[in-house]
Amino acid sequence: MAVATLKKITYTSTNVDLEQFHALFDEALVRARGASGKEYPMYIDGKAVTTTAEPIVDTSPIDTSRVLGTFHTARPEQIDLAVRAARAAAKGWAARSAGERIKPLRRAAALIRERKFELAAIMSIEVGKSRLEAMGDAEESADLIDYYCQQMKDARGFIREMARMTPIERNVDVLRPFGVFACIAPFNFPLALSAGMSSAALVAGNTIVYKPAEETPWTGLKLYEIYRDAGIPTGVFNLIQGRGHLMGDAIWHHPGVDGVVFTGSKEVGMRIFAEFSAKWTRPCLLELGGKNAAIVMDTADIDAAAEGVMRSAFGLQNQKCSATSRVYVHKSVAKKFTTALLAKTKAIAIGDPSERDVFFGPLINEESVERYERAATQARAEGKLLMGGSRLESGALAKGHYVSPAIATLPLESSLFRTELFAPLLAIGVVSSFDEAIAESNRTEYGLTAGIYSGDDEEVARFFDEIEAGVCYANKRTGATTGAWPGAQAFTGWKGSGSSGKGGCGPYYVMQFMREQSRTTIHTRVQRK
Ligand code: NAP
Repeated sequence: MAVATLKKITYTSTNVDLEQFHALFDEALVRARGASGKEYPMYIDGKAVTTTAEPIVDTSPIDTSRVLGTFHTARPEQIDLAVRAARAAAKGWAARSAGERIKPLRRAAALIRERKFELAAIMSIEVGKSRLEAMGDAEESADLIDYYCQQMKDARGFIREMARMTPIERNVDVLRPFGVFACIAPFNFPLALSAGMSSAALVAGNTIVYKPAEETPWTGLKLYEIYRDAGIPTGVFNLIQGRGHLMGDAIWHHPGVDGVVFTGSKEVGMRIFAEFSAKWTRPCLLELGGKNAAIVMDTADIDAAAEGVMRSAFGLQNQKCSATSRVYVHKSVAKKFTTALLAKTKAIAIGDPSERDVFFGPLINEESVERYERAATQARAEGKLLMGGSRLESGALAKGHYVSPAIATLPLESSLFRTELFAPLLAIGVVSSFDEAIAESNRTEYGLTAGIYSGDDEEVARFFDEIEAGVCYANKRTGATTGAWPGAQAFTGWKGSGSSGKGGCGPYYVMQFMREQSRTTIHTRVQRK
């Protein structure tokens, strides 16, 4: 059965025919498990590089005794080597026409589609993603690359004829690459975010030093292989591995790095932002955390609201920057909504997410489990924990980082409405009016995604105007605050959720990886012999 004949899976797919999908996923999972346990080098300037530094032993959060691979890590020498390789390759790559850069990138998108089952199976066991989430990640990666290539094509390479101030001049405006970008990715969408950030930088003509998260080195390696096999020239995309808190600073501190594109926590991102431009300003494109609110008003379709909130709060165990982590519900429907939400959440299938029909898998690591437990203790003390709040240790779950989905009603002053947990504890606050719901939603340093359920069109219009968030949804049953897709929803973080005001998946993304040059030529009539 051809992979290409299958319907595309996105983060909001609910009722596609999944029989073929599961059959192919089963086969890919066997292959991925069979390929586990190998040792892998980094790739710098097209060459395999090994070191004696402590390697990353990549284990599955589903069963921490399962070693997926052992990955060599970079010391300062390898970081330097990678930046030098990227610098050496920068001139040639930038000199290509936009079309010549687009060609191998389009091939990379095609290769992702060809390999999507392999990629999804690896992400499922490396991150603990459900099958549909993992496939969404792979499909989004291919769509992101194509979308950014199209942006470059539509803009005709960002070369534009400008007005003439005199008859003898010609003015051309061009956008040109900055040079070398450090591309640093988080664990939760290890392929889509890495492919998205890097392909935009590449199509714009920059070269890359790429570091995946220490929890997802295998997926990071797969992205390297895709670009290599697609014909991205040697040195243009370099893969280094390592633990960010030990070696991350050395990447963006390197004087040969011209720009940073980073997706991850506000804590790490803001430090990079503050220090990166010490000498002169350099592009620092950050997509950071969120504390995303859903508002449920008295006119809402309560079943749709409960479904949408459940899906966005507990999909990928809440480890999405766009996850719903707080709800402000109008007092007149609070009981009805909470009852419906609890019923839907209790029906969630918890277990090994690489198995079919499991929705909720493990957290990424022990640190996340501990953060969740601390939050549950706080919720018990400050409000009412309606369900969940504990580690799951029965049977096979004891082998991984499993917890139960948690829902708590809390006083609006609780810090659990403001601190990003990146763990499945949903805070519910009761409000008396739309104004109060908006004010509470905005009372946070983050501004990534937000959702509303309301049958009142005026209220929805006011929500869009008054909410301080870059990605906003109204009445979405398939996810209150999640599910953005390239070309459909730009993914822009406001306030502490991002640095540039223009998001991935959106129409203004690629141009941020370029700087403008104005070219004025005065025509002379030199006769060459
Ligand atoms: P993280 O801890 O900030 O890590 C992100 C990346 O930064 C990882 O590759 C990490 O390496 C690296 N890193 C750590 N310290 C560094 C340093 N000093 N210098 C350079 N790099 C460093 O985030 P995470 O836990 O992987 O991901 C979760 C966070 O990402 C959440 O806050 C989430 O909201 C956010 N996120 C945002 C978006 C968005 O589009 N806005 C999307 C997804 C996730 P190691 O893994 O080796 O530590």
